[in-house]
Amino acid sequence: MLAGTAVAAQDKFITIGTGGQTGVYFVVGQSICRLVNRGTADHNLKCTAPSTGGSIANINAIKAGDMDMGVAQSDWQFHAFNGSSQFEGDAFEGERAVFSVHGEPFTVIARADAGITSFADLKGKRVNIGNPGSGQRATMEVVMDALGWTLDDFALASELKPAEQAAALGDNKVDAIIYTVGHPNGSIQEAVSTVDAVLVPVTGPEIDQLIADNPFYAAATVPGGMYKGSDNDTSTFGVKATFVTADTVDEDTVYQVVKAVFDNFDRFKKLHPAFANLKEEEMIKDGLSAPLHPGAAKYYAERGWM
Ligand code: GLU
Repeated sequence: MLAGTAVAAQDKFITIGTGGQTGVYFVVGQSICRLVNRGTADHNLKCTAPSTGGSIANINAIKAGDMDMGVAQSDWQFHAFNGSSQFEGDAFEGERAVFSVHGEPFTVIARADAGITSFADLKGKRVNIGNPGSGQRATMEVVMDALGWTLDDFALASELKPAEQAAALGDNKVDAIIYTVGHPNGSIQEAVSTVDAVLVPVTGPEIDQLIADNPFYAAATVPGGMYKGSDNDTSTFGVKATFVTADTVDEDTVYQVVKAVFDNFDRFKKLHPAFANLKEEEMIKDGLSAPLHPGAAKYYAERGWM
């Protein structure tokens, strides 16, 4: 090093856990990284957002220190921090919330020829309950518990990933698929364009009870006309996609990531139609149950939002 030259700070690599490539989490992670990487010259952060198995896989990777941040459903953010449901006896007390993103209705899509018009009709059918590690699989298990169902209640319970399930529906390998995802979603559009398929309502007293008992669930609707074959609104329940990290990730790193998103928020909102109606004041509180990471809190305080 020559005397008098500036010492270049080391680049710091950060990894964001997403979901399958056909989902919206992948777009969330890719979009955040794109905005972060525009500022690498200023803050030395270099961000990557690989495809993963989804919410549960992301939370476990953050807990293990293999990833720095990730996207997770609000129900699994809650259960991980509190050590409940799938995280019983395995609480992640170091989990920290950053912000929430779009809403994710628990969405069931069935072949029109399968005769499925309600969630109860899934009994005895071939259903893709989702890959272990995904949010939809974990939430499906909660719904099955609420109904007193086991895997034996299906003729087939497959564990395909989101990227595989649209084709499985079209090829008549399964009667129905499940996806907790932001809308409109490309893989559901693909599914309903290759085979006659319908969105199935997820309603009834057990669902009402889940919503009443748990702050992270809410009634949700997939608007009619969004997908071919489903002209009317479809009622279900839903969660929020949230962005989480760990208390071991340093304040400045989280601050810079949050700043990259909210300093460029109009740009961010254009990166997926599911982001169009996002509002800063909702994102900094809705769906968050773990404590806010101090790096995020610092930015929100600077903006006068809290
Ligand atoms: N909600 C899904 C999960 O937790 C992912 C949805 C997406 O990839 O957009 O696994």
